[in-house]
This record gives sequence, C-alpha cells and structure tokens, in this order.
Amino acid sequence: MEYSIGIDIGGTKIATGIVGQQGNVRYKRIHPTPNSTNREIVDLLKQTVSEYMKLATEENINLVSVGIGSAGQIDYKNGRILSGTVNIKDWNNIDIRESLSHTTNLPIYLDNDANTFAIAEHQLGSGKGVDDLVCLTLGTGIGGGIVSDGNVIRGKWGGAAELGHMSVNFNGPDCNCGSKGCIETYASGTGIANRMREKLNSIDAGKRISYTEHPDMLTSKEVFEWNKTGLPEAKEVIDQAITALSFGIVNMIHTFNPSLIIFGGGLAEANRWLIEEVQNKVNAIGMPSLVKGVEMKVSKLGYDTGLIGAAYQVWATSK
Ligand SMILES: [Zn+2]
Repeated sequence: MEYSIGIDIGGTKIATGIVGQQGNVRYKRIHPTPNSTNREIVDLLKQTVSEYMKLATEENINLVSVGIGSAGQIDYKNGRILSGTVNIKDWNNIDIRESLSHTTNLPIYLDNDANTFAIAEHQLGSGKGVDDLVCLTLGTGIGGGIVSDGNVIRGKWGGAAELGHMSVNFNGPDCNCGSKGCIETYASGTGIANRMREKLNSIDAGKRISYTEHPDMLTSKEVFEWNKTGLPEAKEVIDQAITALSFGIVNMIHTFNPSLIIFGGGLAEANRWLIEEVQNKVNAIGMPSLVKGVEMKVSKLGYDTGLIGAAYQVWATSK
C-alpha cells in the first residue's frame, strides 16, 4: 500500500502523520502551533518530514508524497502560503514547497485546509460518491470547501470558497477580512465569544457576574454551556449564530446547488444538535426547489479529517 505524510496546520495545533491510501492513519502527532515566527513552523515541518522519512525506511513503508493543508490563502499550484490568517502568527508569503525540497525528494502538495477537508470527505467520508457538496469547518474561524461536479473549486490561484467570509449583514460587526457581518463574525468560535462579550458589556455588572467575572477570557464553549442552562443572553448569541449560518448556507445552496453539506471542526463536533436547527431554518428560508432534499451531515472522519485530506492530495490529484 502507498502512504503519504500528512500535515494539517491550524491556528492552535499542527497535526502530522503517516496516512495510507485507504485513509488509515498509521502514525500521528499533535504539536501546538508555534506562535513566534514562520521560521519556527517551517523548521517543525522539516524536522517532522525527516523523522517520518527515517521511520518509513526503518519500517519499510512506501511513502509517495508529502501533503500539507494550511489555514490561510494558499497558492496551491506553486506551493506557497500567500497571506495567512490572523490565527497563525507571521504566516505570510512562504514558499513551503521550496523550503521542504531540501529535506525530501518526495512530491509536495499544499492546499487550503478547508479544501483538504473537502478532499477527504469527498474521497473517503460522508461525501463519498456525492459529486456536489459544500464543506464548512466550524472552529476558531470558519473554513469552506466546495466540490462541484466532482471537482474542488479553487478559482484562479486557490483562493475560492472563503465561505466563512460570506457576509450575511452589511451593517454587521467588522470582520478581520475587511468586510462586515461575515458568517464567521457570528458563528465561529471567536465570533460567538465576541458577540457574547459585547452582550455582557452592555448589561449591568450585577447580572454580568451571573455569567462570569472575566468577560475578556470567555470562550464559545462557555457560551454553549450557558445556552444549555437557559441564560437568555447566551441563547440570543447562539440563536444569532444559527440564523447567520442558515442564511449563509441558503446563499451557498442557491449558488452551488449541492446535494450535501458536510460540517467539520471542533464546534460542529461538540454541538451536533446545531446542525438540525440549521437544517430546519434553511428549509424554512431557502428556495424550496433548491433546499429540498439537501442533506446535512457532520464529518464522518472526525478529528483526523484535515490530516487525512492533507495526505490524500496525491491520490485525489492523480484520479
Ligand atoms: Zn470576513
């Protein structure tokens, strides 16, 4: 069997591993994402690749490529990180393929992490056999990947499918992309925490204490917990996230006519009930002929989807 080194670079962690052509993860490591310079991340990648190559030689593993999925805007043809993401420090203008070419002779693939997620789900996961699907990864930010007629839509250089930055309110909160009211400002982990913080800052101090003494430190996880216990401000924030996500998904369905939406990312994994709420709302507000019958599922491959998709690029490309 052929194997590929997979590297999934996110804002919080970098997952690396050796992945087989069936999507089986043979080795896996998780590193916290270095937050000083891009040099530190590139050095970590080099070290990881050389260690896995050594391991593969020792254990007679047939390695055929290195596949990387990264957050940010990626020139996938030239193997470059263009402009990164606010979630990874100093992650701009890096020639990853060139940097790693001194470490390995294996072909090196690089793509946006939401595209590699879509590749994994389309080839091996919930989207297997489905040729028109939209993937949304709900985490610190919101990533998007689109498969249309069996092909990942990348646009001119790979920047397509920034679905988290689809605006659903032109009077909405400022987004780090430069726009306003993007889905990400309402329904990502950061967005949910920010909207909750605004609410807490607008209510009186006594009431605020019933939530937290430290609004600056709150995370979306707490907002979901407060929502579960029925605290009204938290419920408003979560309802708003569901509404923003639903209007965004209706836009996506109207644009791409998919038969399936696949959700991934920590926030979707931890709050599966959310998907049913979104499904109901989408059915209520979308064009009936288009939204009817569109299925919504949570990633089948779970937490390893990004890693598997990163490694899988070599096989997806050669099909
Ligand atoms: Zn945006």
